[in-house]
Amino acid sequence: MAEQNNVYQTRIQRARDLMRDEGLDMLFIGPSSDFRYFTGHPVKQSERLTALLIPYDGTPTVVVPQLEAPLVAHLGDDFEYEIWTETENPIDRVVERVRRSGSEAIAINDQIWAGFVIQLQHELPNRSYARGVNVLKQLRSVKDQFELDLLKEASRRTDNAWESFIKSVKVIGRTEEEVAEDLKGALADHGMPDVAFCIVASGPNGSSPHHHTADRRIQAGDPIVMDFGGIHEGYFSDVTRTPVAGHVPDDNFTTAYDIVLEAQQAAFEKIAPGVPCQDVDRAARKVITDHGYGDYFIHRVGHGIGMTGHEDPYLVEGNAEPLQAGMVVSDEPGIYMPGKWGIRIEDSVAVTASGGERYNHVSREITILE
Ligand code: ZN
Ligand code: ZN
Ligand code: ZN
Repeated sequence: MAEQNNVYQTRIQRARDLMRDEGLDMLFIGPSSDFRYFTGHPVKQSERLTALLIPYDGTPTVVVPQLEAPLVAHLGDDFEYEIWTETENPIDRVVERVRRSGSEAIAINDQIWAGFVIQLQHELPNRSYARGVNVLKQLRSVKDQFELDLLKEASRRTDNAWESFIKSVKVIGRTEEEVAEDLKGALADHGMPDVAFCIVASGPNGSSPHHHTADRRIQAGDPIVMDFGGIHEGYFSDVTRTPVAGHVPDDNFTTAYDIVLEAQQAAFEKIAPGVPCQDVDRAARKVITDHGYGDYFIHRVGHGIGMTGHEDPYLVEGNAEPLQAGMVVSDEPGIYMPGKWGIRIEDSVAVTASGGERYNHVSREITILE
């Protein structure tokens, strides 16, 4: 526990270094993965405010409703507490803390409800308010070793689930939903009971990248885009494979599959510290475009992964920010032929000092399922 507390204190110190650069006096963090990032404690959005106040100087304060105070007691004396009772307005406690700390420039995380923010601004109109994203993005996108270990373990469990799933699953004649249930079951069996998402998109449905898994029955010759991930101690995995039912549908599919595979590898090889995020997208897109399928690769090549499924940095044209060691991103090019099928191949990749390290190791070749 002591060692873990150091993790959170180190993160708070890093936040303060960035607050100084940004000229901020206080961070106001609502219930969100940001709250968990700084405390280790998961908390859900609710009409009863739980929040964290990190002043540039002094001990951070947890604002918590009285009936949930026992849940945060284990955070100990690294934090102070504002425990508000059921008949109080919790914003009064926040106002009190902001006043007492003398904070002028307040930054707020994106996931706090507007209702709380507007009340605070109304009570303290003579302060400056900004999004905390500049601080939080820099912190959250570069993972510490504690986080890298959890992300790697999340990917390892997800790989194991996939291996066991493809050994036993029957797909032909079954619905997408039934197959998705089997995949979720495999995730649970391999220590990932918190399934984050599970897309099963068969045949023509595969040409919609975020298809809502439904009651279509899978037929022989259908490619099946399967995009799935779980949550391990707050950290996400995110993998996509595109197996086919029975047999590959046509020559174009195999050609396109190999192009996606090549594009995925090209993006992977591009990943290294200092490389602009958009260059990773360009590396994959060049392969697909050069083969004449550029119009059918309709999304960015990747996104950051951490305590949320999609987060900074986004590997997208227009994002010239450099990759840094400690970032973990998805590498997921695709080709989507409207009305026919889709293909996507996705791994999670960590940026290391020397390049990229794949966190997923299951085969990327075409897998035939019966
Ligand atoms: Zn997505
Ligand atoms: Zn995915
Ligand atoms: Zn993804």
